[in-house]
Amino acid sequence: MHKFLTMRPLIVANWKCNPTTKKEARLLFDSIKKGTKKVKNIEVVICPPFVWLPILLGLSTFARQQASYGGSVVAFGIGGQDCFWKESGAFTGEVSARMLKDLGCQYVILGHSERRIYFGETDETINKKIKAVLKTGLAPILCVGNKRKRSKENSKEVRIQLEKALFGVKRANLKNLIIAYEPLWAISTQGGIAASPDDARKGRLFIKEVLSKKFGSNCAKEIRILYGGSVNVKNARDFIYKARMDGLLIGQASLDSREFIKIVKTLDRKSDLKGKQVRTF
Ligand code: PEP
Repeated sequence: MHKFLTMRPLIVANWKCNPTTKKEARLLFDSIKKGTKKVKNIEVVICPPFVWLPILLGLSTFARQQASYGGSVVAFGIGGQDCFWKESGAFTGEVSARMLKDLGCQYVILGHSERRIYFGETDETINKKIKAVLKTGLAPILCVGNKRKRSKENSKEVRIQLEKALFGVKRANLKNLIIAYEPLWAISTQGGIAASPDDARKGRLFIKEVLSKKFGSNCAKEIRILYGGSVNVKNARDFIYKARMDGLLIGQASLDSREFIKIVKTLDRKSDLKGKQVRTF
């Protein structure tokens, strides 16, 4: 099972359906890897389209080996952007959690708003996927978020998404779970404007409250909550150090290697991370 080395911020790049060619995917990945070589206190995860996974996994072997030996290079993780709940079978077009795991992935994004909007993803299918992913030992990054800003229904929407997605999940299987709080109105491609650190903080507290009620406060404390929605180099630090998110899920800005590297570097300040818990499961 993948071991989280520390509770350092987790920065996840969601490349979505980009870039178009393997050459561009390689260049983008190489450039991020090179640019973050000296970063010590951040864990970076790249989630490319399925077809680029084997290429990036080949390229990242060295970094992952070093990380697992306690080296000082950044721990690079690789993840899928979705997966299917069955291991195998007559399900044309699907890729299973087991396949991602076997390929060498450590993470998989589930329930992203674009999958909910464009591909009919429901809380029920997300629930099946979460269970399958947890069984494989991959870490699911479950995306939840409200559609409208300041709607009275906000909390209800997020609570329902969490309760349904985590229905029947046992406390003992939760240790790899990560939640991404992604208010829809903040996502760049939805015409979004980033949430304020206070919005993000409230979202995090609300999610923790729902998780505490469901699984108990000790368990909820361990679950990392990321923020996603129009993150850039100007606002990234505030989400980590003011809103106290455990990390970021980044779409648009992760396709620009210079911007992404700047974001990672601006968070890599050991003094800011003092007191952050060390996690070794
Ligand atoms: C996303 O879609 O997960 C996301 C966070 O996108 P962006 O950073 O482009 O708002």
